[in-house]
Amino acid sequence: MKTIGLIGGMSWESTQTYYSLINRSVNRELGGFHSAKIVMVSVDFAEIEQCQSDGNWDGAAVILGDAANQLIMARADCIAICTNTMHIVFDQVCDGINVPCLHIGDALGAFASRNDHLCLGLLGTRFTMEKSFLSDRLHRHFGIDVIIPNEEQRQAVHRIIYEELCHGEINDSSRDVFLRVIKDLSRQGASGVILGCTEIGLLIDQDHTQLPVLDTTALHAQSLVDFALETE
Ligand code: GLU
Repeated sequence: MKTIGLIGGMSWESTQTYYSLINRSVNRELGGFHSAKIVMVSVDFAEIEQCQSDGNWDGAAVILGDAANQLIMARADCIAICTNTMHIVFDQVCDGINVPCLHIGDALGAFASRNDHLCLGLLGTRFTMEKSFLSDRLHRHFGIDVIIPNEEQRQAVHRIIYEELCHGEINDSSRDVFLRVIKDLSRQGASGVILGCTEIGLLIDQDHTQLPVLDTTALHAQSLVDFALETE
């Protein structure tokens, strides 16, 4: 089994989910007492959030690049950035890293293609919904189009992520907000909805909506397990 390297802490609420999903999946595959080989560097999210609100993406890239190098020193066989938003600096972080860096959008895109999704709604932080780093990748590599919520909905989704979900706060009223947005995306032609923020799965799962839910945390975690267990 290969060792999975996680850059976590963005937020730590969702890193817990990665840790648990990866271990459960490895145990499902191998049985017995098996669990995943994982090394993790968990950053201080306050530093990252400051860089985000200052638009200081280069500063964030330095912090995450440093984390990636620590993982290499700890002999990780692959690297994952455990957040959608910070894939904005994926290329900068992974530049010069001599092990595979597994992009969250590729795990998502591969699953979406296998399930014949050609047009998906996207929920995430404002950065993920409004910048093109994720939707462009889905379009270029997988031929998938993305629909984003309107301005007012984007503001609400972004606020709930940072003020509630990143602090582990789960509110029914916020779930209702998300479900209304999901309904709108479906009306506009989305055949599924991307939970494009690693905390959204704390609030919404497939039981809450009839529209297929594509949870990037679960898909990314599974792509890491597939990598770790792949026999050469
Ligand atoms: N975890 C979130 C994401 O997947 C948001 C927190 C962050 O900005 O990294 O985008």
